Amino acid sequence: MATLVFLHAHPDDEASQTGGTMALAGELGHRVVWICCTDGSQGTRSGETDESVAEVRRREARASAEVLGVDRLVFLDHLDSGMHGWDSNANPDAFMNADPLEVGRDVARLLDEEDADVLIGYDWHGNYGHPDHIMVHKVMNAAADLAARRPRLLQSTMNRDAIRAGYDPENKAGFDPDAPADDGNPVGTPEAEIAWKVNVNEVVMLKREALAAHASQEDAAQLIAMPEGFFALAFRHEYYIEDGVSPMREAWPF
Ligand SMILES: [Zn+2]
Repeated sequence: MATLVFLHAHPDDEASQTGGTMALAGELGHRVVWICCTDGSQGTRSGETDESVAEVRRREARASAEVLGVDRLVFLDHLDSGMHGWDSNANPDAFMNADPLEVGRDVARLLDEEDADVLIGYDWHGNYGHPDHIMVHKVMNAAADLAARRPRLLQSTMNRDAIRAGYDPENKAGFDPDAPADDGNPVGTPEAEIAWKVNVNEVVMLKREALAAHASQEDAAQLIAMPEGFFALAFRHEYYIEDGVSPMREAWPF
């Protein structure tokens, strides 16, 4: 059995991006560790509560971890940077302004503590260009270099070609994967550069439940408002890049 460490930017990224892989890994007996880099404080506030956004999101993250069978959840508590161009970008304590080597050292310490076999982060542009997601990619690489035992590295991504197949430009139905995302690049990765297509169909409703745990977030609320059948179709595959693994295969990577 392996120890898998998932490195994510904000509470709710674990659910939408790798929730199925986490749930399946747990069911198969692997140890699942989730490191959440930021406090999610730039997320949406919803409902009447005395809690801060960060407190709400921490509570929601714990609930999601419970649903996904996560063995250990670690909060690094960096400040959420918000999207590109937000005022929050200028805060020197925002995660995007952190030193990747310094955060990499913190993550490497956890990798050593866990004697981790695999570290899962994001592709080079963080899937859709969010500055905190781009930082996760840098931290992932730094941590892998610094760990006593270098883990296998997988980069969570989206399959741009698969998304394009579901896009109808005539009627603007679906989602145009070639439009510029937060950093000006299109979302995800061309299929030719992807290593693993993981079918998480059997746990896709757990993934939905994990997303539902983040109900304070408008993005998550929109996704769980999708009819169940449609949600299952949209979220039953998770994609990963791994150096040296090509062409893409539909298989369980661990
Ligand atoms: Zn995020």
